[in-house]
Amino acid sequence: MIFKKRKVRIVTLKKDTRDSILSFCKMNHPNEGILILRGKLRGENILIDGLVVPPFSEQGPTFAGFPSSFLPFDPSYIGTVHSHPTGSAKPSIEDLHNFFGFVSMIVKSPYENDDIFAWNADGGEINITLSD
Ligand SMILES: [Zn+2]
Repeated sequence: MIFKKRKVRIVTLKKDTRDSILSFCKMNHPNEGILILRGKLRGENILIDGLVVPPFSEQGPTFAGFPSSFLPFDPSYIGTVHSHPTGSAKPSIEDLHNFFGFVSMIVKSPYENDDIFAWNADGGEINITLSD
C-alpha cells in the first residue's frame, strides 16, 4: 500500500496551536494528556492547524489514550499529540503500538517551546517548523 509507505518529513505547526498544546499539557500535569491533531497532508509535509479532544479519553500519570474505534472517520484527523510528564519525549513501545495517523507529537515536561517533538510510525524524528 502506497498510503502506508508515505513518509512525512516536515510538520508545520501554527504558533497558536503550539501554544494551545503546551497549555493543555500544563493543565493535565502530572497526568498525561492527549489530543487529536487536525490538519492537511501535502506531499511530505503535514500542516497542523487544529486540535480535537478525543472522546472517551483516559488519562493517568503514565498513560493517555482513547479507543480509536470510537472516532468518526475524518480525513483531517492526521495524528495525535500527548504529554510525557516524566522522562524524555521519545515514543514508548506502547506509543508506537498505538500510533494513529501520520504523526505522533510528544511534549515533555516542563512543556516549554523547545519541549515538543514529532515522530513517525517507525519512531523516527520529524522536523517541526512553526508558522504564524
Ligand atoms: Zn507516550
